[in-house]
Amino acid sequence: MNRFRKLLSQTKVILLDGAMGTQLMEKGLKAGDIPEMWNLKFPEVIEEIHLSYIKAGSQIIYTNTFGANRLKLKKGGREKFLEKVNREGVRIARRVAKREVLVAGDVGPTGEFLKPYGLWEEEDFQKVFYEQINILIEAGVDLIVLETFSDIRELKIALEVAKSVSDLPVMASMSFEKGKKGYRTIMGVSIKEMVEELKGADVIGANCGSLTPWQMGEVIEEMRRCTDLPILAKPNAGKSMIKNGKVVYEVKAEEFAEGMMEVIKKGAKLVGGCCGTNGDYIKKLSEKIKQWEE
Ligand SMILES: [Zn+2]
Repeated sequence: MNRFRKLLSQTKVILLDGAMGTQLMEKGLKAGDIPEMWNLKFPEVIEEIHLSYIKAGSQIIYTNTFGANRLKLKKGGREKFLEKVNREGVRIARRVAKREVLVAGDVGPTGEFLKPYGLWEEEDFQKVFYEQINILIEAGVDLIVLETFSDIRELKIALEVAKSVSDLPVMASMSFEKGKKGYRTIMGVSIKEMVEELKGADVIGANCGSLTPWQMGEVIEEMRRCTDLPILAKPNAGKSMIKNGKVVYEVKAEEFAEGMMEVIKKGAKLVGGCCGTNGDYIKKLSEKIKQWEE
């Protein structure tokens, strides 16, 4: 049995990791730099971030490969590093994960739009996802996570590709914002629509955006009503703002952990943090989960 499926069947709550991108910024990544290039330039920094999450109690860590697809790398003129960046991302995570922790191959959106909004055909996106997901799987991830999507067509393509190349489990997650019509992605996708379109996923969920953990709880509550699949929730530390020239997030670690316990009670089985969170957030959450499970 796949280790992830085993974990899913045996555990009440699974602790994911926290942010990678905003942690890299704290460590010197500049706006416009490609975060995934750090897998080659500063692997020790990536390792350190993974380790901070493992020490905090994360049972699954995400590879630093979120934007390592051909279209995004091409924009930054780093296309030729595609294979290496993805392989190294897995290697670094594997090295620190050892036996106990699982490694999820992280795949984000292409950063481009399908026709009629953009220039791209579905087949183009298929190729882009196929290429990246194949490398991640060959490099030895335990599962694939598709995250921070706004367009359901794009996510569906990525999910179908992931399911076609192997039988590894796939988690699919979108970013929701609160609007007049309730929670929608910026492309207008509702929670119900997402659930209906992603029947083949092993886990579905929500991540990133500007929601507080409490608002994320509302998203998860609605999702729970639409599906029996395991649900993941990885919100940001609330809204971000600029303070003294630095990006800061409004929800602090203790408050975040409290809010995430509500998210668990609303039905999320896999929880962690996205932008603005760090090892401290995950540690506080880990402690609260332990108390709750006792
Ligand atoms: Zn985020």
